[in-house]
Amino acid sequence: MRFLEKIFQVISTQALPSACIVCERHQQDTICGDCLKSLGNKCLFNYECCFQCGIALTASELYTKKCESCTNNPPYFDKTYCLDRYEGLLQNALHQLKYQKRLAYAHGLANIWNQLLAIQLKDIDAGHLFPVPLSIEKLSTRGFNQSWEIARNVDCGGGVRKTPFVLKRHHRNTQQVGGKLSTRRLAIQNVFYLDSRFIESLDGQSVIIFDDVMTTGATLNEIARLLKDNGVSHVINWVLLRTARAPYV
Ligand SMILES: [Zn+2]
Ligand SMILES: [Zn+2]
Repeated sequence: MRFLEKIFQVISTQALPSACIVCERHQQDTICGDCLKSLGNKCLFNYECCFQCGIALTASELYTKKCESCTNNPPYFDKTYCLDRYEGLLQNALHQLKYQKRLAYAHGLANIWNQLLAIQLKDIDAGHLFPVPLSIEKLSTRGFNQSWEIARNVDCGGGVRKTPFVLKRHHRNTQQVGGKLSTRRLAIQNVFYLDSRFIESLDGQSVIIFDDVMTTGATLNEIARLLKDNGVSHVINWVLLRTARAPYV
């Protein structure tokens, strides 16, 4: 199946007209040279960011390489790598994937990640990569998990096992928009769980969590708490887009 998928990918890249997922001009690759260059210059990963939560640092935080929020209220995860800001050039492409269900955009977004960030992360020492899961109910409404669709095409070291089946999510009707970090942390508590068949294999391991958008970090913090409670030693977040620092955090 993977083989056929690859053949289709090669044929569609070579033979079918394609468009840049950023500027939407027709050309052969999923991103044009101009947009790739522009992203390469402006992406969040070019800036000094908090090593723990990935937010761009203020001048007073540069010395510690850690933001005030992580200093005062340390999260459970150890590191965060973000490709770009939510308000940047990739927001529309992500919306096309999530809300217009244009799955080809997942491949395009992963392609951009691979060209701009993967080389810096290729030696990362981790045993597993899990996407932030959707609940079964959400998954059946949307039809796919956007974080997994991107993550499955992202380059990482050969020793990293990617799977969307280990980390799972209960369904809750509360919307996750807005609110203080403390409120969000409370709302997300115990939403995630692990498939018991895999818990033993996580002991002492480093795990990468892939998320499409990071806002307050409450979701990723809760996942990291769960993983560490079950023996995981390090949790590293890989995030496509990071929202700007909220004034209430
Ligand atoms: Zn373009
Ligand atoms: Zn931070």
